[in-house]
Amino acid sequence: MQGSRSKLLVMGFDGLDYELFKQRGPAGLEVLPLYSPVPVTGPAWTSIYTGDSTTTHGVRNVYGLETRRRYARNELLHWVGWYGHQLFRLLRFKPLHRRYVTRARTQSKYIWDTLSAAGVRVKVVAMPITCPVRKVNGIHVGGFPVVTRKAWCYPAELSEKVPADYPKWCDIIHCFQDPELHSHRHWKRRLKAMGLEGPKKTLAENTEKLAAFFLSLPGADLEMIQFSFIDRLGHVFGMGGAPEEFCYDMVLRLIRNVGDAVRPEAMMVISDHGFQGDAHTDYGALGLGGTIRDLIHLPAGYTPTVLDVAPTIGGLFGVPHLCEGNDLTGVGPYVTRPREEDEREKADIMGRLRELGYL
Ligand SMILES: [Zn+2]
Ligand SMILES: [Zn+2]
Repeated sequence: MQGSRSKLLVMGFDGLDYELFKQRGPAGLEVLPLYSPVPVTGPAWTSIYTGDSTTTHGVRNVYGLETRRRYARNELLHWVGWYGHQLFRLLRFKPLHRRYVTRARTQSKYIWDTLSAAGVRVKVVAMPITCPVRKVNGIHVGGFPVVTRKAWCYPAELSEKVPADYPKWCDIIHCFQDPELHSHRHWKRRLKAMGLEGPKKTLAENTEKLAAFFLSLPGADLEMIQFSFIDRLGHVFGMGGAPEEFCYDMVLRLIRNVGDAVRPEAMMVISDHGFQGDAHTDYGALGLGGTIRDLIHLPAGYTPTVLDVAPTIGGLFGVPHLCEGNDLTGVGPYVTRPREEDEREKADIMGRLRELGYL
């Protein structure tokens, strides 16, 4: 199948901000705001893949962890720390491993499941909160957190070809911690200690390796890849000034280089939320390039949301993806989402993250 032209290339950037991205005027792309009702990495990416709200898909926090009770357990993990873990192991206690809600657990359908069932070939690489992966019509290599290594690639034989460093390329957090064992705060201190220049070099190299790995895999009708550096650098060094210049230069370069190599009929750039200063913003970006620009019809005054991405991708392939979001190609039905619930859920999640000192 190599050589056949990709119909749609979707490039995701965690924390790509609508205003900051638009300011840079990426060539060949029309940039729209993409509203994120729960602007937190785990829930928002899962909404992008499923078209469902946090309430429906069940991924409630940053890493896609399970339920409130589990969340408390993960916090305990943080306080137990590494030495505590070794003690737990010596005492032969059941290890306090993190558990994740991913597509293995949620009832929501993922867009690549819908397309696979319709015979569309997919290639999905490094999209966050997708481990462990399941069967698709094509290739799926999971994204951050890359856990349960036995189940991070479909087809399984592919894992022999995926270099051991792949998790680090996906996410700089993997350079500093095992997300199954450590608190989500663990990596920030270490990254900060490096100063800005160290991570810049590491991120530039690793990102290039991830892009090259993606391009080395056989092509498909739908190709998706995600990069996480904006959000990670933003949390440690803030998004503005030098880190912002570095990140957005890299975004434009990646869009150009990966786009030129894949040469898709249409291109979509997406993000789970924005990032300005030291915090997430509600508005991620939706960049549209190629034939897709003539196919999207937005009602006057309508702002697309992260829930609209999956049904719109379905619409572009003529395959209805039933969910809470809207198909912006107008092929599928426009439905009304329970917005109030989204807002309550967001307040709830943001409150807890603030309590934990994450925001
Ligand atoms: Zn994010
Ligand atoms: Zn973040």
